[in-house]
Amino acid sequence: MRILVVEDEHKLAAVLKRGLQEHGYAVDVAHDGEDGFSFAEIGEHDLIILDIMLPSLDGFEIARKLRARRMNTPILMLTARDAVDDRVRGLDSGADDYLIKPFAFRELVARVRALLRRDELVKDPVLRVADLEVDTISHEVRRSGQMISLTSKEYAVLEYLVRNPNRVLTRAQIAEHVWDYDFTAMSNVVDVYIRYLRRKLDDGFEPKLLHTIRGTGYQLKVPR
Ligand code: CA
Repeated sequence: MRILVVEDEHKLAAVLKRGLQEHGYAVDVAHDGEDGFSFAEIGEHDLIILDIMLPSLDGFEIARKLRARRMNTPILMLTARDAVDDRVRGLDSGADDYLIKPFAFRELVARVRALLRRDELVKDPVLRVADLEVDTISHEVRRSGQMISLTSKEYAVLEYLVRNPNRVLTRAQIAEHVWDYDFTAMSNVVDVYIRYLRRKLDDGFEPKLLHTIRGTGYQLKVPR
């Protein structure tokens, strides 16, 4: 799961990033509104933590613009004041929940978990590509009804690919999404994991789903 934090207070942003990473999330940070919107618009995040008062574009505007583009990524808004108006405006502009600053980090994590859970329930938790089934709640994977056992990292790589069918994903995108590390050190690791996955998912099955796009990366292809 990948979270975008849009917060102009650098210290708070850093605390949120570190804390969320400790809870196993991959985290991106933007320090102003325009950057935040650009990051969010790419659509690679499972949840957005959005401050209201931001330079260049405020949190209300960002939420409104994302919803206008039919992006349904859950948004948790951070409001500095305990003002009813702000909360109403936040929810009206498309936020799913809000938290009043200062807040306990434990509460933030609980709300993040609740929002992600709600989002998974709305969506069908089972992702399907051809005869491949990936249960995003139990993490069970089946091909042609046959259970395939994966390690947690293999599962994370696969879930990312299945959430982006037919899209060519670069090694850097996969590495950043799954490991949240700098890409340079990770390139070989991605290749190794794809090799493991291919052996487990494609060996003995037709059609092949995992494709190498030479010079670019990998693609999970939906057969026609
Ligand atoms: Ca702020």
